[in-house]
Amino acid sequence: MLPKNSGFEFVRPVNEAPLSYAPGSSEKKEIKAKLKEFSSEVAEIPLIIGGRAVKTGNMAEVRMPHNHSRVIARFHKAGKTEINQAVEASLAAKHDWERMPWDKRSIIFRKAASKIAGPYRATINAVTMLGQGKDVFQSEIEAVCELVDFFHFNTYYLNEIYKDQPQSLRDIINQVEYRPLEGFVFAVSPFNFTAIGGNLPTAPAMAGNTVLWKPASTAVYSNYLIMKILEECGLPPGVINFVPGSGSEIGDYVIENPHLAGIHFTGSSEVFRNMWQKVGQNIGNYKTYPRLVGETGGKDFVVVHPTAEKEEVITALVRGAFEYQGQKCSAASRAYLPESLWKDIKDDLIAATEKLKIGDIEDFTNFLGAVIDRDAFDKIVSYIDYAKNSKEAQIIAGGKYDDSRGYFIWPTLILTTDPEFKTMEEEIFGPVLTIYVYADNEYDQVLHLCNQTSPYGLTGSIMGKDRDALLKAEDILTHAAGNFYINDKPTAAVVGQQPFGGSRASGTNDKAGSLWNMIRWISPRSIKENLIPPRSYQYPHLDEK
Ligand code: NAD
Repeated sequence: MLPKNSGFEFVRPVNEAPLSYAPGSSEKKEIKAKLKEFSSEVAEIPLIIGGRAVKTGNMAEVRMPHNHSRVIARFHKAGKTEINQAVEASLAAKHDWERMPWDKRSIIFRKAASKIAGPYRATINAVTMLGQGKDVFQSEIEAVCELVDFFHFNTYYLNEIYKDQPQSLRDIINQVEYRPLEGFVFAVSPFNFTAIGGNLPTAPAMAGNTVLWKPASTAVYSNYLIMKILEECGLPPGVINFVPGSGSEIGDYVIENPHLAGIHFTGSSEVFRNMWQKVGQNIGNYKTYPRLVGETGGKDFVVVHPTAEKEEVITALVRGAFEYQGQKCSAASRAYLPESLWKDIKDDLIAATEKLKIGDIEDFTNFLGAVIDRDAFDKIVSYIDYAKNSKEAQIIAGGKYDDSRGYFIWPTLILTTDPEFKTMEEEIFGPVLTIYVYADNEYDQVLHLCNQTSPYGLTGSIMGKDRDALLKAEDILTHAAGNFYINDKPTAAVVGQQPFGGSRASGTNDKAGSLWNMIRWISPRSIKENLIPPRSYQYPHLDEK
């Protein structure tokens, strides 16, 4: 366990490049074969506690969103007994893990990145596509590329943090020891990004923490594969304990534990608020104040200035709103268009939306697949029906849905005359974009309106050519988005390029995949050693003469 007499240097990583999956490519052939393989099997997924596979017999299923009669995995759910075991395992693993030399610790995650980018690439993609309903490109850019980036950049940033040391003097040696937190970290991940599943437990683990990881039930399959890859790459038993199950049952119980040192959450604002509240109620019982890091919902906007280019606006809206069926926290879901441009754009935007092909993700010609599950389908449909029955709104494209085979919802455009219409304010998390058309001379007012309309502050775009208008938007919308885009769609942040996260109701804005996030999993200890300790308590000022 003693560090050897050598240091090491990570160079700043470059982003993992997505493969094209173009016709005839070897990657296309490989992924097609994997899709076939995984869609004809039913995997059994245990919990992993202290490196052991644990089967509770309390089971749930992972089904394909686009063909909900097909089960691809059954997983065991954790209860209170297993949570107690997982907490014990994480505390038992802590001593050795936090003392493992950093170069050895970091290699585990670097190796996992290499395996995900290499031999496991097609497997991770196939399972993400089938289980979470992504098309091949949407899966490739996140389940592989973003996750690989998280592992590369987080180890790089942590290395940079560790190098940051205070000044020492001739007779005083100063050092900052970057300790992990005292206790365990509770990582709770959402369904919509395999990469976030992989990031939430590993970012604290890299810093020497031990973790309980509760994945979203609909993403258990891909998340389990990541867990297995980490184990294969040498992650010691108990460092990350994989405990799928009911969020509220597990969550409430874990939060009561006095050893809770932090929560690393991504999901809806409501769940995060709930967790925060429970932590508040328990605050007298913890050994340390838990760090709360949560990236949550969004109501992401596109504001279009009259000087914007028509084709660029249509592309940003279609891709921003409908890729992955709008199930991205960053998805464009409200747009403000000037009257002058709207006249020109309307028909082509409707045509482009209605042309989008929807169906099974196994057919690569489809732009959209199905939404994740029954609850999501019902919620999104309720918003569409609300708009259908309202006098302030009109459905100008889509509005169709069909759950007979898969949870399909056609990309939908709602045009509203009320800028504070329900679908301009609330997160829908589906392929629904609401448009409000403003008078060209009301650009300033519309920026203020956009800033105040929704409680969220995650992502947003401004489109146009007039530099003063762009600057004005950047200024008025300072706090409206943690990720602000100029002449682009508000989605697809890249690790190391656009650190991701928002404030207001959208989270603590600790920017996943950045140095700011890694700092949250560290509790520095300053160590001063005096080489010549004073030998008298007297100070000169105590003498009057
Ligand atoms: P969700 O809030 O329903 O679930 C997230 C996780 O929390 C799941 O693992 C779930 O089981 C768990 N959970 C549910 N109730 C819990 C409780 N009481 N205690 C503890 N854990 C509990 O979210 P989702 O449907 O999986 O994901 C979609 C949401 O996530 C959207 O709101 C989206 O905007 C948000 N999201 C945000 C970001 C971001 O970076 N800001 C990224 C992805 C998703």
